[in-house]
Amino acid sequence: MEKRFALVDCNNFYVSCERVFTPGLEGKPVVVLSNNDGCIIARSNEIKQLGIKIGDPLFRWKATIKKCGGHIYSSNYTLYADMSRRVMETLASFAPDIEIYSIDEAFLPLSGLREDSCKYGRRIRHTVKKWTGIPVSIGIGPTKTLAKAAARVAKKDSACAGVFDISHHPEDILAGLDVSEIWGIGYRHARFLKRHGIRTGLDLKEIEDSWIKKHLTITGLRTAWELRGISCIPLEEVSAPKKSIMCSRSFGREVNSFDELRQAVTSYTARAAEKARRQRSAASCIHVFLIENPFVHSHFTSHAACVQLPVPSAHTPELTGYALAILERIFKPGLSFRKAGVMLTGLVPRGQVQMNLFYPGREGLRELSLMKTIDTINTRWGRDTITYAGCGIERPWGMRRARLSARFTTCWNDIPVVKAS
Ligand SMILES: [Mg+2]
Repeated sequence: MEKRFALVDCNNFYVSCERVFTPGLEGKPVVVLSNNDGCIIARSNEIKQLGIKIGDPLFRWKATIKKCGGHIYSSNYTLYADMSRRVMETLASFAPDIEIYSIDEAFLPLSGLREDSCKYGRRIRHTVKKWTGIPVSIGIGPTKTLAKAAARVAKKDSACAGVFDISHHPEDILAGLDVSEIWGIGYRHARFLKRHGIRTGLDLKEIEDSWIKKHLTITGLRTAWELRGISCIPLEEVSAPKKSIMCSRSFGREVNSFDELRQAVTSYTARAAEKARRQRSAASCIHVFLIENPFVHSHFTSHAACVQLPVPSAHTPELTGYALAILERIFKPGLSFRKAGVMLTGLVPRGQVQMNLFYPGREGLRELSLMKTIDTINTRWGRDTITYAGCGIERPWGMRRARLSARFTTCWNDIPVVKAS
């Protein structure tokens, strides 16, 4: 059977999430900032028209944005993650085997679809907008790479009304597609290709296999085949558990006290352990790292170490004990740090934990049910309803988020109020 894929991509996702709950932002210039309010990471179309680029520092454009009556937001990941879940659940009602590719993109299998693909796409688009308030663009094609290219057209060309099927005239589109914009072609490969006169998707599609394989390896060859309409990259399983879990953040300011670092590492460990429990895994190894302030030293310096656990665990107090022991080893007084992180690796399914004859492990039934209770309460009543004293109360090292919107969908106190008169 001929294969067919749709790529559903949320338009200006973070900005759209803010607009759902503050409809007055519709049609106004809106930006969302990176952690610590430093750079611009999401832009409304009005902002794009001003020539503001992703990654530009806020200070450079702040006055311009204000002058055009624009709005500036800190990133509200709690809101974006919940809105993403809603969008993905809506998409799964069309095709249960979707591949969630990123927070705002998913591939849908369309093979065997009897209906006209664009009509079907428009139905998906209408439903997502109606159920979640988020506008999406949909690209359709015989391979994932072509569906990605189609989604660019769907987003840019207003004549498509948000849905574009590339199957009919792929050559026309590929001729206008810069190689750097092809899914799977990184910055370095794009530069290399251009040096050899291969500038567009159409050029790449027509190059000999042996040349591509030699210079771009098998991954590049797969991309070229996909451009020719031969599907080589299948949909990936959604529910595959992660192999490692990382929790790291930049601090809102420089941190040099051990106590503050201890709070940060304790809270990152708690968060990572919670994620491990959610996917029913236990960690065999825990890593902790600190990154010095790159602006003080001209070079990037990090301090890191890890510990192999005697028995894999997802028990927060046990993991915290190891994490803090590592922190003591890597901490150096007198240095100031910009970021810390905790990573759990060697994740194994809970049911397959190898016991250790010489170490009973601390994760008995009591501990398991305590963790389960804490997770249930925090899921029901919001993150950090129950937290560890070691995480600190004030958290002066926390992220700067001066322009944060409310947690409209995940916190009872923040639910929007509708007044009917
Ligand atoms: Mg997007």
